Amino acid sequence: EYKQGGYHPVSIGDVYNERYRVVRKLGYGRFSTVWLCKDAITKRKVALKISKSDENYTATAEDEIKLLDAISRVDKSDPRRDKVVQLLESFSHTGVHGQHVCLVFEPLTCNLLKLIERSNYQGLEIDKVRTIMRQVLQGLDFLHTKCKIIHTDIKPENILVKMVKGKISKVKIADLGNACWTHHHFADAIQTKEYRSPEVLVGLEYGTGADIWSTACMAFEVAMGGYLFEPVEAPNHSSEADHLAKITRMLGPILPEVYKEGAHWDEFFNEEGKLLHDSNINPRSWPLMMELLRKQWNRVDVEQFCAFLEPMLEIDQDNRGTAAQCLQEDWLLHPPVARPAPVVAATSAAAAEEEKAAAGYGAPALVA
Ligand code: ADP
Ligand code: MG
Repeated sequence: EYKQGGYHPVSIGDVYNERYRVVRKLGYGRFSTVWLCKDAITKRKVALKISKSDENYTATAEDEIKLLDAISRVDKSDPRRDKVVQLLESFSHTGVHGQHVCLVFEPLTCNLLKLIERSNYQGLEIDKVRTIMRQVLQGLDFLHTKCKIIHTDIKPENILVKMVKGKISKVKIADLGNACWTHHHFADAIQTKEYRSPEVLVGLEYGTGADIWSTACMAFEVAMGGYLFEPVEAPNHSSEADHLAKITRMLGPILPEVYKEGAHWDEFFNEEGKLLHDSNINPRSWPLMMELLRKQWNRVDVEQFCAFLEPMLEIDQDNRGTAAQCLQEDWLLHPPVARPAPVVAATSAAAAEEEKAAAGYGAPALVA
């Protein structure tokens, strides 16, 4: 994709905007490549996002700048704004493949998909999942309520973490490249397939709840190491039809009362609201809890995590939890104590250490 209209070819040591010297590649997405650079003026490291040069990509990057500028102007005292990447500067670079919009950000260590990969697709420890999800929801609450922005592409690749000595020190929502205003959408087809909400699949108007759905899919994936829903296409059905079937099997029926106005309703459902390609499907025959029980967590963790995810996976977007509501769930506020202190070591220094760790662990301790 390094061609006319595509990615700009970048070499280590190149200097952009007369100040940013490229150190190494940080990542790439559908729209851009991202590079760690040293800023000759501030002597700090920055992340330089260089968009593809095609008109459409340029327009997308310009929308991203507008959204990021708007975010930077909203309530500067709100501590949650730090959970969303902040634009330091933008400029345009003319290269061999055309004009590229360039965005400069604070650099983080990697995206969440990297952490999932490093877990060998087994998922992260539940405490890490909790740290990540709390900060993502704080960022979303800020975007949704203060900025009136829908991200529309929440997924592990678009959540960045800063690691310090192997620990997660910061979590930030990145890639506002597909974001839109709550009152002004740019596209009907939003979200990456696996994270796509039922209202978008069926073609209803969407709102901030679409991000909450994607966030639940992502929380599951970060914890379990695999997709919550992995739609597949087959000769007799589309990927979307399979996706709706999987949602029904886990969460219950997609009700005509709510969904029949959707632009694509007729493509998937018959008059009675049964799925066309599989009218015998049994709603809730494979509940979320069954999936979570595959993990060797303690019972309280499984129950709390399930209770945390369920309101986010409410099929009717009007009943879905908001980011602010999700932040009040017990899984985030009252996690169980780490683990029961080992009985044999009850008097040892190790047990005292463990008790201390448990005390600082969270809010009021629940018995595991
Ligand atoms: P795209 O719009 O092309 O998807 P993103 O903004 O998602 O671009 O960036 C692509 C990838 O580059 C991310 O998934 C991440 O791995 C990396 N990246 C982006 N911004 C940063 C940053 N500030 N610090 C570190 N890595 C980043
Ligand atoms: Mg991206």
